[in-house]
Amino acid sequence: MSTHALIDDIVRTFKAEGRIVIVGASLTGLRAAEALRDEGFTGSLTIIGDEAHEPYDRPPLSKQVLKGWVPAGNTKLPRLRAVDADWRLGVAATGLDRDNREVLLANGEKVPYDRLLIATGVRSRAWFNPEEATLDGLYTLRTSEDAAKIQEAFRARPKRVLIVGAGFIGSEMASVCRDLGLDVTVAERSSAPLVGPLGGVIGDIAAKMQRDAGVDLRTGVAVEALKGDADGHVRQAQLSDGTLLDVDVVVASLGSVRNIEWLEGAELASGFWGVACDAGCRAFDVNGVVTDNIFVAGDVARAPHVLYEYQFMAIEHVDAAVLGARTAAHNMVNLEKGRRPHLPLPQFWSGQFGVNIKGVGVCSFGDEIVFTQGSVEDLRFAAAFGKNGRIVGALTFNHGKWLEYYARLIEQSAPFPPPPPGYDQPTNAEVMSARFGDPRAPTGIPDVVLTGHDPTSRGAEFRARAR
Ligand SMILES: Cc1cc2nc3c(=O)[nH]c(=O)nc-3n(C[C@H](O)[C@H](O)[C@H](O)COP(=O)(O)OP(=O)(O)OC[C@H]3O[C@@H](n4cnc5c(N)ncnc54)[C@H](O)[C@@H]3O)c2cc1C
Repeated sequence: MSTHALIDDIVRTFKAEGRIVIVGASLTGLRAAEALRDEGFTGSLTIIGDEAHEPYDRPPLSKQVLKGWVPAGNTKLPRLRAVDADWRLGVAATGLDRDNREVLLANGEKVPYDRLLIATGVRSRAWFNPEEATLDGLYTLRTSEDAAKIQEAFRARPKRVLIVGAGFIGSEMASVCRDLGLDVTVAERSSAPLVGPLGGVIGDIAAKMQRDAGVDLRTGVAVEALKGDADGHVRQAQLSDGTLLDVDVVVASLGSVRNIEWLEGAELASGFWGVACDAGCRAFDVNGVVTDNIFVAGDVARAPHVLYEYQFMAIEHVDAAVLGARTAAHNMVNLEKGRRPHLPLPQFWSGQFGVNIKGVGVCSFGDEIVFTQGSVEDLRFAAAFGKNGRIVGALTFNHGKWLEYYARLIEQSAPFPPPPPGYDQPTNAEVMSARFGDPRAPTGIPDVVLTGHDPTSRGAEFRARAR
């Protein structure tokens, strides 16, 4: 056999054969499995998921499900093709043995792999006080079980709901409460809702939207403690400004925590940021060296993005998860020359208080904002975010049909402020500070340090941050 024929044979075998294991049986896991079969992989495929359900869609959980329009168990993801996989649902992966190429399961089994996809996503950040966390009436929202419980709690018509945290999910839940005619208080530590992803200028608009809809919005306050009655049901919340609120349902919407604990000891670049990988979805090891047989995609992944100064970004949105799944699958069955990059232009959407919010790019990468179309007063506008004279993100309120226009500008790193799109121009097109939080604020995250003096024995290690 000639060398060329031999190489072709290796490439063909690599594409079709072997054992692929996917850990995480949700959107990313399912779409990756489908893409692997589309790519021609005919080997053994195992999908491990700790939830007992088949993959389901999470966005409706904070919208249609809480409104009571759709039962929580009815958001199953459509199957785009048959995947012929061994589904191991209801069992968690608890470890990764890279020496023996095995995934360890909670039931003691070991699942061997040749190539592995990590797609374990994120979970809701738990209430910070473990004793209070056991109170009845306190919820978080990530899974369909969570949504079913909150749906039931809302249906019981509580006197007052408290939402702690006004990010996208917290704000959507507050909106649902008002749609259902429930009294709701939102407590947000920063100056307004949505400041983290969209900055203070948009936050002020979101705050007005909430107040106009009858939300009791309290900003610049933290919830310091929850108090229960004799039956262990939450009844009061103590705010940092001294207020004691009477509440009977509390939903903590405090952001997400990446599901990486099962990778402890596997010497991958995994931590509170997720699992770091290259733009081809290949995981980095703890030293930042790329692995060849471990891939990562979806909410748990963090990869460098060319449009954003090659910064490592975790993009927790549906579109990025689907594209990442497909790119990872493609690269898992192709050798170096056939591999392609995962370069999503992040897109997100939200529905709240009757407003359809859509975004593209990474707004929080920018430091300036300009309204480019429409009217803020009418809640129908487009705004662009810029950094160093380039457009990096755009946002629309009830103006989504223009998103593509801005997406093209962002892809081309077009100048900021962008050229006026022709008509419907706002009265005030002044460039302003977008008012994001101060990135220099200290955090409690661990430091990574280099160990070893000899250049050939140097390695990275995590250390708790010195106080
Ligand atoms: C309420 C809500 C509303 C949302 N709304 C929007 C929206 O409007 N627009 C949008 O773009 N995005 C939205 N999102 C985000 C979107 O749902 C996520 O981007 C998407 O679910 C990511 O898919 P994933 O498969 O990467 O992660 P996940 O969906 O988190 O799935 C990871 C899976 O892995 C499992 N797992 C974790 N650890 C282990 C382990 N050790 N062993 C086995 N299995 C494990 C998890 O239980 C989970 O089933 C929303 C999310 C939520 C929760």
